[in-house]
Amino acid sequence: MGKHKIKFNTKTIHGGQIPEKGYGAVMTPIYQTSTYSQSSPGVHEGFEYSRTSNPTRKALENSLASIENGKHGLAFGSGLAAIDAVLKLFKTGDEVISTNNLYGGSYRLFTKVFENFGIKFHFTEMTDLASLKKLINSKTKMIWVETPTNPMMNIIDIKALSKIAKDNKLLLAVDNTFATPFLQQPLDLGADIVMHSATKYLAGHSDVVLGALVVKDSQLAEKLHFIQNASGAICGPMDSFLTLRGIKTLHVRMKRHCENAKKIAIFLTNHSKIDKVFWPGLKTHPNHQIAKNQMSDFGAMISFTTNGNSYKKAIKIIENLNLFTLAESLGGVESLSCHPASMTHASIPKKERELSGLVDSLIRLSVGIEDVEDLISDLNQAIR
Ligand SMILES: *Cc1c(COP(=O)(O)O)cnc(C)c1O
Repeated sequence: MGKHKIKFNTKTIHGGQIPEKGYGAVMTPIYQTSTYSQSSPGVHEGFEYSRTSNPTRKALENSLASIENGKHGLAFGSGLAAIDAVLKLFKTGDEVISTNNLYGGSYRLFTKVFENFGIKFHFTEMTDLASLKKLINSKTKMIWVETPTNPMMNIIDIKALSKIAKDNKLLLAVDNTFATPFLQQPLDLGADIVMHSATKYLAGHSDVVLGALVVKDSQLAEKLHFIQNASGAICGPMDSFLTLRGIKTLHVRMKRHCENAKKIAIFLTNHSKIDKVFWPGLKTHPNHQIAKNQMSDFGAMISFTTNGNSYKKAIKIIENLNLFTLAESLGGVESLSCHPASMTHASIPKKERELSGLVDSLIRLSVGIEDVEDLISDLNQAIR
């Protein structure tokens, strides 16, 4: 193909993939093996032991690197295992600044596990960069960002943050789970590490738990590979295969996810019983302009509150929904509903939750790829 650079949709299908040598299988097989034969000590086909590397996982890692415009991909047993590996780059006394509005499990890992090892975490609203700068000191090592944030859908300016990170020699890590590389490519905006819960959109079918990291820098990749192998939180060949298969349809799924979400966001905005709607594609969204600049569309995660901010009413709506299944998680082909205050974000103290706008009546939707008329009809009957 000479100098022609393949585009995103092609990358999801072919990026980093090589034909299988044995039988010419078009899809990378599930190499369900723990070890590999050597013809003489240290002489082998590139694989020694599956914690270190496995051909199916390797194919997935190459695909991840390709779709995120990185050089090195690393796959883990879950999104949190991927974050855990990043935090092991640091030592006692180091500090991390994180978005205050983040996945509850990430918050729990930071505050309940790594704080025990003497790593200090600061949480702040990164839409205000001045207050972020005040938290930077000589011990700061990394800025951790989710955008869009969960579940308030704030948008954080990755490019502006990357300038601050570079000026202060900090790593910038972006949890790109909500946006996916279909919508936003943080490495191109200056981030050093992209993290995914591939459990969500990348795998896309609610049938696997898997995590990923992608980086450009080879030295950083080497350190993370060392941690991946030393700590061992890898994913198995079957889960690698399922995620690799999911990625091949990421672009078609994301297109439909976004189209459906737009129609639902407009429906909710116009509904007399709904108070606030949080979706970055709405012109009234406070960070709409940043979203327009750094994302190619606005994603399919929507949060909303009811009139009077009633906990009871919110629970009633959720109970009455038929097509939107009440469940944790997101990003699958099927639509899900969730009550963050009592589910995904229950591990964050109420006071802290409400500071970031996460009130008791907040309902979060993961809009699937069903017929949108059916989804709107379901929401309409549940809200009435
Ligand atoms: C689900 C999720 C995680 C954690 O990933 P697991 O695969 O569940 O371990 C991290 N960040 C975000 C934004 C998530 O949605």
